[in-house]
Amino acid sequence: AKKQGKNQYKLFDSALEQRVQKAIYIEEKLQQAITLKQFELYFQPKINIGSGQVESLEALIRWPNNGRMIFPDEFIPIAEDKGLIGKITECVLEMACDTLSQWHGLAHLKDLSIAINISGKDISVDNFYEKLERLLSRYKFNPSLLELELTESALISNLSNVKATLKQLKKLGIKVAIDDFGTGYSSLAYLQALDIYYLKIDRQFVAALLSEPKAEAIVQSIIDVGKNLGLCLIAEGVEQAEHLDKLQRMGCDQAQGYFICRPLPSSELLKFLSAAKQA
Ligand code: C2E
Ligand code: CA
Ligand code: CA
Ligand code: CA
Repeated sequence: AKKQGKNQYKLFDSALEQRVQKAIYIEEKLQQAITLKQFELYFQPKINIGSGQVESLEALIRWPNNGRMIFPDEFIPIAEDKGLIGKITECVLEMACDTLSQWHGLAHLKDLSIAINISGKDISVDNFYEKLERLLSRYKFNPSLLELELTESALISNLSNVKATLKQLKKLGIKVAIDDFGTGYSSLAYLQALDIYYLKIDRQFVAALLSEPKAEAIVQSIIDVGKNLGLCLIAEGVEQAEHLDKLQRMGCDQAQGYFICRPLPSSELLKFLSAAKQA
């Protein structure tokens, strides 16, 4: 048993070492990717459940590297760790603003919002709002077309700071979503204290919605609390028609997920949007 223990330790050791090596590799490459602006945005529609209309798009970062795509779960945590996330967020914001200003002049696209994922490290920086305002002043589109998705862990990092920032964002018309709601450090106190527009119900609850009564009870409770507070409810991870039906009956406002549309590069997204309009 002792020997086996030793082998296991070795196995663990080399797996850990591999992870560390990979993180170092990614960190080095990330520096380059930031300088050369090698990121792309994919867009995933969020629809109004009642009308089926696309109301907004979530921007999801992708990093093409040596012929393959690196997904955000692989590099965003490293970027946060190594102090690189601020620069990445700047890239993402710029790409989103460029897109919104291109759409500004197009009748069929000018009302679409874009939602960006913001890290807790971003929002707790003192001058986040000032930097965003400065960026927006270079563009012509209405700032209310920009949405920010924050996870609950972002909110606790510096609550009083975040509270002031969200107040300023609201004045500018920028809508803020709490992402992955119901996981992590959720506290109803945040809903009371903060200027929030959307609650985004985490996909783990949506995935269990049809099979687990507890998940259904949780989703219904989130919807009820959100509604009572005047918030807009959105469900993520909608993978089946039955999810959509059920969520509609439960009073959810918006939905997003593979059943509706996968995240797409902008050229394919435009095709999806025009096909959706014909239908
Ligand atoms: P998230 O904000 O919760 O985004 C939803 C994730 O679920 C996305 O993965 C999306 O592709 C995926 N998804 C969408 N519909 C479905 C579905 O029906 N079923 C399932 N199983 N998954 C679905 P992705 O693009 O790999 O992003 C992962 C996470 O990385 C995001 O989670 C977000 O936290 C973070 N992220 C993405 N883009 C950015 C960014 O620009 N900046 C920052 N800071 N974080 C980002
Ligand atoms: Ca999100
Ligand atoms: Ca989410
Ligand atoms: Ca997530």
